[in-house]
Amino acid sequence: MNQEPLEKEKILEELSKLKKQDLEYSDGRILGSMCTRADPLAKEVFCDFLDANLGDPGLFKGTQTLEDEVIRDIGSFLSLEKPFGNVVTGGTEANLMAIRAARNMAREEKGIGNINSENGYSIPEIIVPKSAHFSFKKAADLLNLKLIEADLDENYRVDIESVKKNISDNTIAIVGVAGTTELGMIDPIEDLSKLAHDNDIYFHVDAAFGGFSIPFLKDFGYEMPVFDFSLEGVSSITVDPHKMGLAPIPSGGILFREKKYLDVMAVKSPYLTSKEQSTIVGTRLGAPAAATWAIMQYMGREGYAKNANECMINSEFLADALFKEDFELIVEPELNIVAFTHPEIPTDDLANMLEEKGWMVSVSSYPKAIRIVLMGHIKYTHLIDFLTSIREIKSSLNIR
Ligand SMILES: *Cc1c(COP(=O)(O)O)cnc(C)c1O
Repeated sequence: MNQEPLEKEKILEELSKLKKQDLEYSDGRILGSMCTRADPLAKEVFCDFLDANLGDPGLFKGTQTLEDEVIRDIGSFLSLEKPFGNVVTGGTEANLMAIRAARNMAREEKGIGNINSENGYSIPEIIVPKSAHFSFKKAADLLNLKLIEADLDENYRVDIESVKKNISDNTIAIVGVAGTTELGMIDPIEDLSKLAHDNDIYFHVDAAFGGFSIPFLKDFGYEMPVFDFSLEGVSSITVDPHKMGLAPIPSGGILFREKKYLDVMAVKSPYLTSKEQSTIVGTRLGAPAAATWAIMQYMGREGYAKNANECMINSEFLADALFKEDFELIVEPELNIVAFTHPEIPTDDLANMLEEKGWMVSVSSYPKAIRIVLMGHIKYTHLIDFLTSIREIKSSLNIR
């Protein structure tokens, strides 16, 4: 590092040089991200709350109120009047908290994972769909759990029979996904909820991606399955404001039905203004809670409905256009993700050719396909340009 302090101008110059290497959402070239451009208002509020530490909430009572209100307002569109939870860094941390709560609860209430002189020690298990986000692999690793992946049906939703078959005496949680990361599919949450409830197993819904669109698309007449706390088996839900909630990164949400799930994770927090802490992170930035609060007020239900609807319209347009160009759609888009392959072009080659033309697509793993997430920064005109590139690639390969 430099010995002498540097001039401010020089530092900013260096930063702007490197920032130019970053892509901008507004270019419409980022086609595979679930994040999007943060609204200027949210950025302004974020900067204003950079000193607030939610790890020491007694010092930042106003910011604490903002966090509580964000969780309460998210609960209002997930059919839970009085949710308990936190604004966290994203879906990964939210899922980790949910699984930690489930693990601790099962240990306390059923003795699963305790060393028992008769039976020795058995590793607690969680059942997730094969389509679940990789954050559950991290959670299983960190919490020392066995991760069981249930099969999917022909539409890439979890097969309820496969989940049922995998339930054992050591099952501590079942996970369903409302808006899978790769394809945007919604698992049969109602059936999973019933199965979990009948077997007295913790049920977590990962709606990191779908949480800020599924409830609002209903307002526009889209038929959407029930996935929220109105189902009695649902114990917790992950929702990411930094995806379809249009909040700046990092903003994730974890909502629990009851306070006992936070209590069972709580550790004493000496030297701070709080007595206990249930979050994983200690010193915790208050800016995401404040910025999320601001953007939620600014959008309102109407704003989110409009955003989700526009993303769906673009998704349907792109899916139709690709179909007409002889691409194969993996599924009919259920949310704003379009995944496709071409019978004559290997998917990785296609991804590379698109990248050479400046399009940053992503490739899904199961099944392997080009995956486009139609976030709000992708406009109709970008899609027209994208389809031109698609036709150019086809003709360069002599495909009509
Ligand atoms: C994005 C996503 C996650 C992980 O969220 P991060 O914010 O990247 O940590 C978890 N689950 C699902 C379904 C997701 O789409």
